[in-house]
Amino acid sequence: MAEDKPIIFKTYRDLPLMPASLGRMTVNDTGSWRNVEPYYIDHTPPCNLKCPAGNDIVNFLRLTSEGKFRQAWELILETSPFPGVCGRVCPHPCESECNRDKLGGVINIHSIERFLADMNFEAPIQEVSIKYPDKKVAIIGSGPAGLACAWHLNRAGYPSTVFESHPQAGGMMRVGIPDYRLPKEVLDREIAAIQAGGTEIKTSCRVGDDITFDELMKEYAAIFIAVGFHQSRALGAEGEGHHDVVPGIEVLKRIALGEAHGLKEKVLVVGGGNTAMDAARSAHRLGAEVTVVYRRTRNEMPAIPEEIDELLAEGIPIDFLTTPVKVHTNGDVIEKVECIRMKLGEPDSSGRRRPVPIEGSNFFVEADQVITAIGETPDLGFVSEDLKVERWGVIADDFGVTNIPGVFAGGDAATGEGTVTHAIGSGSRAASAIINFIQGGELSEKDKLSPSLQRVDSKVVRFEDLNLDYFERQERIEPSHIALEERRGKFTEIYQTMDAARALYEAQRCMSCGTCPACDNCFVFCPDAAIAYSDEPGQKYVIDIMHCKGCGLCASECPRMCVEMKPVK
Ligand SMILES: Cc1cc2nc3c(=O)[nH]c(=O)nc-3n(C[C@H](O)[C@H](O)[C@H](O)COP(=O)(O)OP(=O)(O)OC[C@H]3O[C@@H](n4cnc5c(N)ncnc54)[C@H](O)[C@@H]3O)c2cc1C
Repeated sequence: MAEDKPIIFKTYRDLPLMPASLGRMTVNDTGSWRNVEPYYIDHTPPCNLKCPAGNDIVNFLRLTSEGKFRQAWELILETSPFPGVCGRVCPHPCESECNRDKLGGVINIHSIERFLADMNFEAPIQEVSIKYPDKKVAIIGSGPAGLACAWHLNRAGYPSTVFESHPQAGGMMRVGIPDYRLPKEVLDREIAAIQAGGTEIKTSCRVGDDITFDELMKEYAAIFIAVGFHQSRALGAEGEGHHDVVPGIEVLKRIALGEAHGLKEKVLVVGGGNTAMDAARSAHRLGAEVTVVYRRTRNEMPAIPEEIDELLAEGIPIDFLTTPVKVHTNGDVIEKVECIRMKLGEPDSSGRRRPVPIEGSNFFVEADQVITAIGETPDLGFVSEDLKVERWGVIADDFGVTNIPGVFAGGDAATGEGTVTHAIGSGSRAASAIINFIQGGELSEKDKLSPSLQRVDSKVVRFEDLNLDYFERQERIEPSHIALEERRGKFTEIYQTMDAARALYEAQRCMSCGTCPACDNCFVFCPDAAIAYSDEPGQKYVIDIMHCKGCGLCASECPRMCVEMKPVK
C-alpha cells in the first residue's frame, strides 16, 4: 500500500510559483485554526486492479491521451513484453469494471494497447545489460509465461535460456491462436525484442528427450517450468481411437506450422472453449462444413464471449446440451456420430451445472471427422519425481515457488488460468521470486502486489466516487474489421489497428479514476491560493499549509478522488 504523501511541509518561500497570498501577514496564517488538511493520494483504478499482467493502464492511457505514444508503450513494456499480442487476444478484464461504462461505454483499452504496440513497431528496443552472467536461469516452455519470465530476468540483468519443444517459439500464441486473430508477424516482432534483450531460445529442444531435467538442475541457477497445456483430454466416446478423431490443438498446430492439416468435408467439433471455437473457425475457413456440439449451454461456455459471437456470426452452428457417445465408421471412414441430449443438473466442482444425459434422446450427426476440444492438461512426465504435481499441474504458490528450492512453475501448467495475460503475470511474478532466490532475499509485502498497484492506495475508485460534474458522455469507438463474407478461405486478421486520431480520442475518454493527471482543479478552486505547482519529480502540486484553512474545496472539486481531507495530527 502506498504511503500517504503530505506534500505540505514547505514554506511559501520554497514554492516555485508563489501563491497569491504571498504578501501574507502572520495574521492570515491558518495553522492554528485549521482542523483538517488536504493530502494527495492516488487510489486504485478498476482497470489496473483487474489487469492480470499488472499493467499500469491508467497511466499508459494518460500518456496516450497526451500524444506520448512511445512513452505509453514503454510503460507497458515494464510489465509485459507482449502489448501487440495482448492488444489482440486478451479478453480484457481491465474493461470489465471501467467506470466509463455509464458515460458512453467502457474505454477500448485493448485497442489502444494494440495501437501503441503497432505504432512503435520500428522503435529500437532499449539494450539491457547482463549483470550476473554466472546466474543463468533455465526456462522450460516459450509461451507467454516463459517468455515474460525471461523478459523480466533480462531487464534485471539475469541471462536465461528458454527450451522449447516446437520448432518455433511462442507456445499457444504460435500454435493455438490462429492468424485471423493474431498474425504471426506481431508475435515474431515481440519475441525478437525479447531475444534482443539477451534471451536465448533453443527451439526443437524438448526437456525430457533432448536434455534432462536433472541436467538443467545441475547447470542452471534456477528453473522455471512453463509448459502449458498441450495434452488433449479424451472424449470418452466409443470409437474415438479412429484416426479421423483428432484433437483441436493438433489441428491448430498443424495449420499454424504450415503442415498438412488433414481436414475433411464435414467436421464435428466437440467443446465450448477457445480451442473448440478456433478449431471450428479455422476448419470453416478451410472449406469444411462445421458443426459444434457442446454439452452445456452458452452460459457455461468457457470460450471468450466475443469469440463465440464471431463463430456464430460466421455461420457456424452450435448444438447446445449435446455430447457424442459413439463414432460410427464404415470401413476406414467415419460415417456419422451418435450424440445424446443433455440437461443441466447440480453444480460440479467447477461451479458450473453438471450436464446429465437424457436417456433415449440419442440422434445422429453426419460427419466424416471429429475434432475434440474438451480441455487440455500439462505433460509433466519429464520433471523430477520429487516435484509435487497434481493431474492439473505443478503445485506452486502465486510466485511460482514449488516444493523444490530453485524450481519454479507458472502459466497454465501451474495456475490453469488459461489466458495469455494471466500467463504473463505469472511469469513476471516468478521472475521476482527467482531473483529473490538467487540473491538469497525475501519478497516484501509490497513486492507481492502487482507493479501497477504498488504505487497506490488499496481503495478502488468506483463510479459513485467520481465528481461527475466534470465528465460528459462520450461514445466508445471500435476498430474497423473485415466483412463476414471476406473471411471464408482466408486467415486475414479480422480487426484492424486504430489510427492515432481514434486512439487519442479513446484515451482522452479515460476518466483517470483515482489517479491525478494534473487537471489543475485543486489549484484553480483553492480560495486561499494555497496550492502551487511543484517542481519535485513525481509530485504535481505543493500546498502552502500555513494558508490552507481546511475548507475542503480542493477535495470536493477533484474530479477523480485524488485529494483527501484528513484531521490535523
Ligand atoms: C486455441 C487456443 C486459443 C486461445 N485463445 C486465447 C485468447 O484469445 N486469449 C487468451 O488470453 N488466451 C487464449 N488461449 C489461452 C492461452 O494461449 C494460454 O493460456 C497461454 O498461452 C498459456 O501460456 P503458457 O506460457 O502457460 O503456456 P503455452 O503458451 O502453452 O506454452 C508452453 C510451451 O511449452 C512448450 N513445452 C511443453 N513441454 C515442453 C518440454 N518438455 N520441453 C520444452 N518445451 C515444452 C510447449 O511446446 C509450448 O510452446 C488460447 C488457447 C488455445 C489453445
